Amino acid sequence: MKVKVKSSFVKRFESGYPLISEESLQKLNGDIAEGTLIEVINDQNKFLGKGYYGKQNKGRGWILTRNQKENIDQAFFEGKIKKALDQRKSFFRDSDTTAFRVFNGEGDGIGGLAIDYFDGYYLMTWYSEGIYTFKNEVITSLENLTKFKGLYEKKRFDAKGSYMEDDDFVAGERAEFPLIVKENGMHFAVYLNDGAMVGVFLDQRDVRKRIRDTYAKGKSVLNTFSYTGAFSVAAALGGAVKTTSVDLANRSKSKTIEQFAVNGIDFESQDIIVEDVFHYFKYAVRKQLKFDMVILDPPSFARSKKHTFSAGKDYPKLLEQAIEITEKEGIIVASSNCSTFDMKKFKSFIEKAFTQSGHTYKILEEYGLPKDFKTIKEFKEGNYLKVAIIKKLT
Ligand code: SAH
Repeated sequence: MKVKVKSSFVKRFESGYPLISEESLQKLNGDIAEGTLIEVINDQNKFLGKGYYGKQNKGRGWILTRNQKENIDQAFFEGKIKKALDQRKSFFRDSDTTAFRVFNGEGDGIGGLAIDYFDGYYLMTWYSEGIYTFKNEVITSLENLTKFKGLYEKKRFDAKGSYMEDDDFVAGERAEFPLIVKENGMHFAVYLNDGAMVGVFLDQRDVRKRIRDTYAKGKSVLNTFSYTGAFSVAAALGGAVKTTSVDLANRSKSKTIEQFAVNGIDFESQDIIVEDVFHYFKYAVRKQLKFDMVILDPPSFARSKKHTFSAGKDYPKLLEQAIEITEKEGIIVASSNCSTFDMKKFKSFIEKAFTQSGHTYKILEEYGLPKDFKTIKEFKEGNYLKVAIIKKLT
């Protein structure tokens, strides 16, 4: 099937941009079924690329090849997945790390699909019903190319974007959960069959290592939006005197205790607090608490009872509050996974927050996605992670 794109978008596609956005398409005659193979053309019927149709937020599909003769078939999927696996050889060889991404969507040539490796098990994440129609091709590829113990999947595409599956097991043998994976020698308990999230965000691997190896020793550490406490674990293993983890979700407490426990850390000597971070900041100011290191890794968007937080708008204010409770010469690890702004903008947020609060700072290091989260220069939004390690000077 052929679909026409608006003339103002043609240049983008010609330069290799892979995402077919809703607004780039000319009016369609009727519906296109999810997973339909489409040829993207301009007004003069010139071929721009070939891919599949699939609704993913404002996306309507992905270009998979710009070669008109290439077929999108089993061999195509297998070729892309083989190349991706080959590029992760150093990860497979590293016995200290048994959890990493083996296929990162458009970065590895197929937008809408991610595959993560967890100690012999593979987790496929499908971002649209369209890509899900290629499930058999992907499974067959993994059967042909790997010696997996088992396959699991997450579907991220039902009506409200909410998570509804009750069994994510697909093939092979079932794992016993928690599955204990390693990351640079740290341990993490993961659950591949218990909701939308597995318990650890693999894209922060390099940052966790850096916190453990370089910044944690002898420090008091506040980890906000701590989820399962992965940054707290890294800090504790790196010799932090004490960690304080704060997250709003009730389940975060038992999950954090578990992550400490599987690393042999006495969780009773750590603080794990279930609370709104914004309340906690007020409390800390009132009690004149100060930390040597504050970690800030909020979601892009969150709504709590009293608060709506949108990273693109509210990050500077959040950072101001963190600055206030960070010791002089202390470290702030500021992170955002929000894809609507880039590192340059993120640094302007940092500048704004420090200017407002009347303190000076120096950015010691910057991090983006680790190399298993492969990205392409033609799709900058894919490189969503921004982390700045900041020293508060005065
Ligand atoms: N930093 C974590 C990942 C954070 S995910 C890690 O590295 O693993 C975002 C977390 O923010 C979720 O666990 C969510 O429960 C929490 N959250 C969202 N809004 C919050 C708020 N207002 N106060 C505290 N936690 C919040």
